[in-house]
Amino acid sequence: MNLILLGPPGAGKGTQAERLMSRYDIPQLSTGEMLRAAVAEGSDLGKQAKIIMEAGNLVPDDLMIKLISERIGHEDCANGFILDGFPRTTAQAQALDAMLVERDLRLDKVISITADEEALIERISGRFSCADCGAGYHDSFKQPRAEGVCDECGGGNFERRKDDNRETVMARLDTYRKQTAPIIPYYEGDGRLVQVDGMAEITAVGDAIQALL
Ligand code: ADP
Ligand code: ADP
Ligand code: ZN
Repeated sequence: MNLILLGPPGAGKGTQAERLMSRYDIPQLSTGEMLRAAVAEGSDLGKQAKIIMEAGNLVPDDLMIKLISERIGHEDCANGFILDGFPRTTAQAQALDAMLVERDLRLDKVISITADEEALIERISGRFSCADCGAGYHDSFKQPRAEGVCDECGGGNFERRKDDNRETVMARLDTYRKQTAPIIPYYEGDGRLVQVDGMAEITAVGDAIQALL
């Protein structure tokens, strides 16, 4: 199963990827996570990406295409993968298609998750995650079952993203509208795109996705 989760920041891509990962036993390939790891590591890519991410802009296509092309060649992608945050431009979408043809793979579905802009801002403002396993949470919408303890790994260290502040969120939404939204018609054209209402509750969005697969 090869899937793309598409949608503006805060739509719920990462949240839904968690459920799909365990259901299909395929990895979530989050380019945002990969970049944050590179920044933390201080690699060349990380050094380039840091300022761009803090401004809410996109890291250049050639770097992202190289990153994902290398990643889908890993053994853990043998049964498929969930792309979360890639592609984000038409050039990335075209490069992905070329990569898949080369490997004799195809996309099963491109799942576009939609949500109102106010909801996105509220979601991003309250977002935090487990520093040990990456599980995602929200101050109001998805608190850990036991306060201060991760549901998934029992850890107690949580973190918030540096770019999850109101100012950067506005820039990221603008970037999404200008550079990423135009890839929706790219996938609509050949029937790969399905749309899901991301305003529903987390479990209801998950059920809607499941019904489409
Ligand atoms: P994305 O990966 O698209 O940026 P996330 O999956 O990280 O978005 O979700 C953003 C925040 O909103 C997280 O804190 C998450 O817990 C919360 N969230 C995700 N889906 C929903 C939903 N359907 N309703 C309410 N909150 C949600
Ligand atoms: P969100 O889940 O809120 O949509 P991500 O974690 O996917 O955010 O991405 C965080 C940041 O990393 C983006 O704002 C952008 O700067 C960079 N980034 C992630 N994926 C890509 C990509 N495919 N192309 C360019 N930049 C990217
Ligand atoms: Zn955890």
